[in-house]
Amino acid sequence: MTDFDGQKIVVTGATRGIGAAIAAAFLGQGATVIGLYAGNEAAAEAFRGQCGEAAERLHLFSCDVSDYAAVEALYAEIEARFDTIDVLVNNAGIRRDAVLALMKEEEWRRVIDINLTGGYIMSKFAVQLMLKKKYGRIIFITSPMAHLGFAGQANYAASKAGQIGMMKSLAKETAKRKITVNCVSPGFIATELLDDLDPEQVKAYKKMVPARRFGRPEEVAHAVLFLAGAQASYVNGAVLEVTGGL
Ligand code: NAP
Repeated sequence: MTDFDGQKIVVTGATRGIGAAIAAAFLGQGATVIGLYAGNEAAAEAFRGQCGEAAERLHLFSCDVSDYAAVEALYAEIEARFDTIDVLVNNAGIRRDAVLALMKEEEWRRVIDINLTGGYIMSKFAVQLMLKKKYGRIIFITSPMAHLGFAGQANYAASKAGQIGMMKSLAKETAKRKITVNCVSPGFIATELLDDLDPEQVKAYKKMVPARRFGRPEEVAHAVLFLAGAQASYVNGAVLEVTGGL
């Protein structure tokens, strides 16, 4: 028996990178995972293939977290099929880097829509289910760029800072109903999100990290499972950094 045996966990961006490690960790603890992805079917099938027998408890849906109507319809299906959920991990996120003076409106809006507005839409319907059972855990995957800033990432940093403000407000709204809301803030983690960095940038960024290496998705998943556990009941409105000391 683990904390998560029989629990129903929603993870956005569950098929690659950090989200896949989070989904796999919950599956490994006996949970049912409802995973969302944007549309990369090959990655979704590859992830399912890696899950072995636990794939029986993995339910994948192609659903854009920034599409209000699509998310509302998906939650109706989740309630019909699974009755309720215990945990939501708002992990789906993108980067569209450009210096602000040259940033296209579309690059600004898409990042805010997916990283920030997507978290609002996903959390709104999750809270409605969680309030009925007076229990829940919501975890946002933010970034240290929220407070550090980074040249070329005004849109991304703003979206990640916005997630922290949303998390802190929601935590105050739901605390009385035994629903906690927290953030995990990973530093540089080796995933496809960083695939566009050239070797010189990778070298320079690793030098910035006191641990002198990028983190692994599994190291982020470990922090998420801590916050998602029933025993983390008095941790609310917190940002847990997983950065190698950045
Ligand atoms: P990743 O490897 O690029 O994976 C992104 C995942 O999100 C994929 O499953 C993708 O689905 C899904 N996704 C993208 N847009 C979506 C949408 N509109 N609706 C639903 N799903 C969507 O990214 P990652 O590196 O694992 O990053 C995960 C999260 O951690 C992000 O929020 C990111 O900002 C944050 N983070 C990452 C790092 C890092 O260094 N990697 C550091 C700090 C924070 P498809 O496969 O279908 O495209």
